[in-house]
Amino acid sequence: MQKIKYITYLERILIVINYKREKMMEDLSDVYNELIMEHSMNSYNKKKLEKADYEQIGHNPNCGDEITLEIKLNGNIIEDMAFSGHGCAISQASTSIMIDTLKGKTLEEAKEIVQIFIGMIKREIEDEETLKKLEDSIAFKNVSNMPARVKCALLAWHTIEEIINKN
Ligand code: ZN
Repeated sequence: MQKIKYITYLERILIVINYKREKMMEDLSDVYNELIMEHSMNSYNKKKLEKADYEQIGHNPNCGDEITLEIKLNGNIIEDMAFSGHGCAISQASTSIMIDTLKGKTLEEAKEIVQIFIGMIKREIEDEETLKKLEDSIAFKNVSNMPARVKCALLAWHTIEEIINKN
């Protein structure tokens, strides 16, 4: 005789709720993943600036990512930024999306956003209102669940941090 495991009504509801929640998070991740893919495949911000005020090299030996960030300031405002170098998709996309996020910001604003990004990846900042300041860079939120990728995502942010700290 075959034994059938009957699940209770409550268990069924819980399964449905869990499924819906996971599906929602998956969909959200898909949007983020698309953005990351798009930036890693297209070299929107990968170029050389004609006249950069600062140039800083960032290196992540764990993965072999190496980038050079260039910044052109207009007074206190980040007027232009670009990068060159090579690395994995996460490091390349993180650099490119960071540039989109920080271009046009003042150095003070940039400093705050950099701190929020690092806080998000380290899971020290989870407040949604605060995370909104990251704009598209919030796409990397799930990297906090991938320890091997954390340094890849943070590379550009630590690199610009060094530039900002010089000011
Ligand atoms: Zn990497």
